Amino acid sequence: MISAEAEPYAKAGGLADMVVGLSRALLKHGVDVRILIPCYSEVRKSTPLVKLLDLPHIKMGTQAYSAAIYVESHQTPPLTYFISNHELFDREGIYNEPASGEGFADNFERFNFFMQAALDALPRISWKPDLLHCHDSQTALIPAFLKLQRMAESFYQNIATVFTIHNVAYQGIFEAGKFPLTGLPPELFYPMSPFEYYGRINLMKAGILYADLLNTVSPTYAREIQENDEYGAGLAAVLRQREGKFFGILNGIDTIEWDPRTDRLLYANYSERDLSGKLVNKQQLQESCGLPVGDAPLIGMISRLVDQKGLDLLFRAKRELARLECQWVILGTGVARYHQMLQELAEENSGKFWVRFAFDNKLAHRIEAGCDLFLMPSRYEPCGLNQMYSMRYGTVPIVRNTGGLADTVTEFHPTSKKGNGFKFQRHAPEPFLEALHRALDIWRNRELWSQLVQNCMCQDFSWDRRASEYIGLYHKAIAQK
Ligand code: ADP
Repeated sequence: MISAEAEPYAKAGGLADMVVGLSRALLKHGVDVRILIPCYSEVRKSTPLVKLLDLPHIKMGTQAYSAAIYVESHQTPPLTYFISNHELFDREGIYNEPASGEGFADNFERFNFFMQAALDALPRISWKPDLLHCHDSQTALIPAFLKLQRMAESFYQNIATVFTIHNVAYQGIFEAGKFPLTGLPPELFYPMSPFEYYGRINLMKAGILYADLLNTVSPTYAREIQENDEYGAGLAAVLRQREGKFFGILNGIDTIEWDPRTDRLLYANYSERDLSGKLVNKQQLQESCGLPVGDAPLIGMISRLVDQKGLDLLFRAKRELARLECQWVILGTGVARYHQMLQELAEENSGKFWVRFAFDNKLAHRIEAGCDLFLMPSRYEPCGLNQMYSMRYGTVPIVRNTGGLADTVTEFHPTSKKGNGFKFQRHAPEPFLEALHRALDIWRNRELWSQLVQNCMCQDFSWDRRASEYIGLYHKAIAQK
């Protein structure tokens, strides 16, 4: 696995969970999987490291960057390697300046260095993988490097590649003038070439076109981003060129970290057989948020506060929401506009609407456990993890019918008593409010509600199942080399 993130070392979002969750499950299936990530300063601070060896300098333009490879001094598999360069990675932040939230000005140099050094590292650690699994734009040039730059070196021949798109909206677009830094022949960059996109470099496009096989993190999102250019963020036609080589595989979740029976971050543990602890979590959560402790339905959200997540619906439906007898607990960080909007909702609905602007894992676990309902009104959602965590915690999801949300949530039908949540299609206040009303109606019917909670809690979202699908994909990629 070559990735910009891996939990617990460096995490900005779901990518970190996916890389490690999948790797652990692959190990159980007997795959010798190893992970390479950059050695950020947050890795150095939190992890005792030992230097394994120095790597050749990486030349970019007139400058040569030193490179070295580190491992954790006491490590449990999957073995993770950290590629270091002081100038490029010893700073706060993974992708962005912490103060401004803007991407680092030298991100192209940082991740180009990382990809080249990762490839250099393999023969030096005497480990030849059958396949490199690359994730997102930060590792998207690796398939091209293997095919166009390293093809004459026997070590790299026959290494297959799989490229996973975690979110097609983040493509890694850079000024054309940076292309020579890759060391690829400059004549490979021309209008409509695999590297070019409206006059600039597009790393994801190159990953899509050069990987042996590619996938994204749910079947519905795979379809959406090929069929609809808005979902495909300009790459729909490029993805369609890879028809037959492009797949959708749902992410799994870490069922050990997210287990209401053993979760140490909760106020009380519980299981589908005995839900009394869930009520304790609800009451404690209400109390800690300053909400009246009682039987009002409690709705949670945990989200990056960005356009993708569809939070504008809360604001657009705010008059109707104010009239409903429910409580809201919202946790998130993101862009200022949504902070303001949510702050306003909290002020206008005090005692009903609580919001916290932070990244807080403990509170996230407590929200999953303490709420009755969990809202994800995303405009698009490649896979989404929180709806799966919610179900495991007996918290019923209300979601927009898109991407991985569409693949994991099925509408609950009171007559058949089948289904595990509530869905709406159009991104507009009316369908959203209708789904919310359907959910609240079922919530008032104790018998139907407990059936629905049971349906949620017995879903299997473990990585074990998904690992088999990835192994199938890897075999296919290797077979076609
Ligand atoms: P995305 O990757 O688009 O942010 P996902 O649902 O796939 O969305 O994954 C987000 C992950 O980050 C989940 O594990 C979620 O619980 C966590 N998360 C997001 N925001 C916060 C927050 N403010 N505090 C704690 N955890 C958060």
